[in-house]
Amino acid sequence: MEFKTDVQIAQEAKMEPIVGIAEKLGIDSDAIEQYGKYKAKIDETEIADLATRKEGKLILVTAITPTPAGEGKTTTVVGLGDGLQKIGKKAAIALREPSLGPVFGMKGGAAGGGYAQVVPMEDLNLHFTGDFHAIGAANNLLAAMLDNHIHHGNSLAIDTRSITWKRVVDMNDRQLRFIVDGLNGKTNGVPREDGFTITVASEIMAILCLSMNMEEMKAKLKAIIVGYTLTGQPVTAGDLKAHGAMAVLLKDALKPNIVQTLEHTPAFVHGGPFANIAHGCNSIKATRLALKYADYVVTEAGFGADLGAEKFMDIKCRLSGIAPAAVVVVATVRALKMHGGMAKKELVTENLSALEAGMPNLMKHIENMQTVFGMPTVVAINKFPTDTTKELALVEEKCQALGVNVVLSDVWENGGNGGQDLARAVVELADQESTLTYAYELEDALVDKMTKVVQKVYGGEGITLAPGVKKEINRLEALGFGNLPICMAKTQYSFSDDKNKLGRPKDFTVTIKKVTVSAGAGFIVVLTGDIMTMPGLPKVPAAESIDIMADGRVTGLF
Ligand code: ADP
Ligand code: MG
Repeated sequence: MEFKTDVQIAQEAKMEPIVGIAEKLGIDSDAIEQYGKYKAKIDETEIADLATRKEGKLILVTAITPTPAGEGKTTTVVGLGDGLQKIGKKAAIALREPSLGPVFGMKGGAAGGGYAQVVPMEDLNLHFTGDFHAIGAANNLLAAMLDNHIHHGNSLAIDTRSITWKRVVDMNDRQLRFIVDGLNGKTNGVPREDGFTITVASEIMAILCLSMNMEEMKAKLKAIIVGYTLTGQPVTAGDLKAHGAMAVLLKDALKPNIVQTLEHTPAFVHGGPFANIAHGCNSIKATRLALKYADYVVTEAGFGADLGAEKFMDIKCRLSGIAPAAVVVVATVRALKMHGGMAKKELVTENLSALEAGMPNLMKHIENMQTVFGMPTVVAINKFPTDTTKELALVEEKCQALGVNVVLSDVWENGGNGGQDLARAVVELADQESTLTYAYELEDALVDKMTKVVQKVYGGEGITLAPGVKKEINRLEALGFGNLPICMAKTQYSFSDDKNKLGRPKDFTVTIKKVTVSAGAGFIVVLTGDIMTMPGLPKVPAAESIDIMADGRVTGLF
């Protein structure tokens, strides 16, 4: 069978003017700031009754441990939103904004796929409403003020070897990972080792996504640590008097964006923090706003449920007081077969024994959602064209035998129509009483927080601290950061810290290699491996085949 590409489907879509989409939700036209015909920002300060509006129910979409075979969380979010709309519910979705840089590396957008997409997809994947450029500017203003302070005498006694703040650019550019700057004599700055990260990895991205309003964002910006003094004291953006100007640059970026799905379901797309060194989900403001206007809001957490959903609950929900009413765990036959030992290139052939052997991965994620976080949970099998009837039936059978809710989702091929069964299942689940519980308490010592996540969520024995890490933990606790939540940066490809351990690994410990504080965002980053914060381009970058026609039509994008 021939399938249209995502961009073909998206370009054929007949979009509705965005004002109509926002008004359909009941958002006052005074609050809608249009960015062209199909994109808008919502200015919450123009909404008088925001605080007193009743909130709808939040549905979190997460997934089994990712494999190169792909899972389809975003696609499921979009299709479930459309499915809810199809069965007559007032629904909206809330998603991350994609990063521009990776678009030119590997093919593949981040706005869903097939007939479950957010549009206009070219805009969404590129400059969109400029939020990421604003974040880059605010980030780099702080960097410029930091080096300027050192150049003009360094009265704060900043140790240039302990500077942690980096410049950013929204491009996959490995050349900038490690650089020396400030060269060529006294008038051109102070030479030091430096480096860039990609914009989405900026702490400012995480701050924007975790701030409820301007006051809060300013306080978080002020608390950012840029480095340490010669005596080991933190130096903050506040010390450099940078936070006010940074906040000015971010004033529009802080307002949630609204666009639509192919079936005109409102889509709040706002913020896009990394899912390893940050918490990996759209802004609290966008989720909140969507909940104020829709009865059901579907949202996504990055990576598999061990990372994405854990941080969604333990960081975002805890901070904001938001709690999901139900969780959807996306699984695919293809990925389960990989967890069961099949190689990627063989996935097109039916293999029931590999499929069955991969099921424990799914079951562990389900257990986690139910027992660690207390969530009513359903498995969505994201149907791929290559799945066989027997394979689909086997996953359903195995889930049912264990008393796990399971629904086939066919949204990639059929849009909202293919998501109606899942929508009905989710509505029923969301009616159940549930109380969100966390994997750890904020009062726990940092080591106990890490141990609890490893034992409860990953199913490991515990943690091993690399040399020097205990000292670093003691230092962070002494500086007063002991009660922050933790943000685990671990490979997404395994429950363990070894990406080759697929399925449901047992009898492993997780080695903590490094801990750092994101004092502005308000979490301790726990690194269990080398995390790349500036990606590179592949040998043949997607950019080589991207083009634009005389009529303005973009080709080769996805
Ligand atoms: P995630 O959010 O989990 O990273 P996406 O929803 O972005 O995954 O999907 C990743 C890729 O897989 C997209 O290019 C999408 O078009 C494709 N995809 C998702 N679901 C299906 C499906 N059921 N059949 C075929 N391709 C799919
Ligand atoms: Mg996604």
